[in-house]
Amino acid sequence: DLVPLSRALISVSDKTGLTELGRALADRGVELLSTGGSAKALREAGLAVTDVAEATGFPEMMDGRVKTLHPVIHGGLLALRDDPAHLAAMEAHGIAGIDLLVVNLYPFEATVARGAEWDEVIENIDIGGPAMIRAAAKNHGFVTTVVDVEDYAALLVELDTHEGRTSEAFRRTMAQRAYGRTAAYDAAVSTWMAGAIGEPAPRRRAVAGTLAQTMRYGENPHQGAAFYTDGSNRPGVATAQQHQGKALSYNNINDTDAAFELVSEFADAPPTCVIVKHANPCGVAQGESLAEAYGRAFDCDRVSAFGGIVALNRPLDRATAEAITGIFTEVVIAPGADDAAREIFAGKKNLRLLTTAGLGDAEAPGLVWRQVSGGYLVQDRDAGRLDPASLQIVTKRRPSEAEMADLLFAWTVGKHVKSNAIVYVKDGATVGIGAGQMSRVDSTRIAARKALDMAAAIGLDAAPTEGSVVASDAFFPFPDGLIAAAEAGARAVIQPGGAMRDADVIAAADDAGLAMVFTGRRHFRH
Ligand code: 5GP
Repeated sequence: DLVPLSRALISVSDKTGLTELGRALADRGVELLSTGGSAKALREAGLAVTDVAEATGFPEMMDGRVKTLHPVIHGGLLALRDDPAHLAAMEAHGIAGIDLLVVNLYPFEATVARGAEWDEVIENIDIGGPAMIRAAAKNHGFVTTVVDVEDYAALLVELDTHEGRTSEAFRRTMAQRAYGRTAAYDAAVSTWMAGAIGEPAPRRRAVAGTLAQTMRYGENPHQGAAFYTDGSNRPGVATAQQHQGKALSYNNINDTDAAFELVSEFADAPPTCVIVKHANPCGVAQGESLAEAYGRAFDCDRVSAFGGIVALNRPLDRATAEAITGIFTEVVIAPGADDAAREIFAGKKNLRLLTTAGLGDAEAPGLVWRQVSGGYLVQDRDAGRLDPASLQIVTKRRPSEAEMADLLFAWTVGKHVKSNAIVYVKDGATVGIGAGQMSRVDSTRIAARKALDMAAAIGLDAAPTEGSVVASDAFFPFPDGLIAAAEAGARAVIQPGGAMRDADVIAAADDAGLAMVFTGRRHFRH
């Protein structure tokens, strides 16, 4: 799918690299078409250029507000070169094809950044540029769109690789970047305007996504908040159906998402229940039945489970619904609920029931965002599963089959616990979770101590961590955390490995008779 490139339209505010690009294109036999300032710069560099005004037969007008907004330009960008009707229209109206569009937009962001007044900022909203970019990118089957000075070099390499033509893959890549640019540009306009007119955050529209709900407040009562959906239509809290109860709060949505993401790791697993509090799981368990799984998850930390969020990996049934209504629960999310379960819940006005179209895909790629002052961090979702075959057994003792099953379960739970994360598991149920501590040894001790508190509360003789396994989301930098886990009764350990003092940690594990496996992969979560 190589297409030739014989005519280019260049209209750039940032003139960096402009004349070099113009010359390189001219050298390759490309005819140049350009707008006022860009044409002037190219001409001054001794290049032959046609003015857009000459091509359209219309002068640039209204202080440049109307330069390229003309059918001769947009027809040249949008015409399908293999469609006889389009070709006939070009012929009839004297429209010549444009094969390459090089545009960078009025410096809107920079104008805002230097604190310009309203009118000047408004004048720096580019209209014709985004219109051309969107047209050219739509017609990427024939047209190449370049919106970034950084891509000039790649364009020339592309032309030289294909004897003056461009490949479909290249045009698609450039089209994707082009729409990314126009999307970011309009987002910048909307964000600036929201700030300039003092629009409160919850009422701002479409900065990213579609406004789904404005909330009475955010994480705290003095913070405004809103919920946007991203249109991806993935199963989850954004697309779930709510059957009863008042609207979800900001914290409910955040916690429900955490619970659903974790339970979605157990798509092909026995009945599994997750209970989340403040975005961390406080009990995760499997059982013969869903009701049993709930009971075992609840027994990990009954105190924290109060007012928690419950996520299930299969449709809610009557027995589980009955068990859940035993304490105050904020939200239950599950891939369905039967009539009997819904009847039991109907009497509980403050309990929200959400049903989803299936579980989430724990392995699906995606991006996650985090705001920092003055910007955003973007990273790949922590997707993917551990391949048990890739585990490395580093101790003299090998984990038993039962221990191995619990290790993998603990590891999966640990991935969803805020760092530093320590998770003790016994027989497919968490018995102690240490989350969000600044030192790993503290997480290890807190988890074990909580397990003891729980044992006292429900009248167990032995510590629940006795004979358990333990997962650590990142390596033990020193043996102390591992020794603390052994003292709490853990018999096997799963952790990434890779610490400078791994040898010391392994020796401590051998001394304590532990079995330990390394995953080679870390799961920080902040
Ligand atoms: P030049 O410096 O070549 O005169 O102008 C280049 C700038 O004009 C580019 O940033 C381009 O996006 C913008 N531009 C091109 N056509 C139009 C138009 O019809 N209206 C507006 N407002 N800007 C345009």
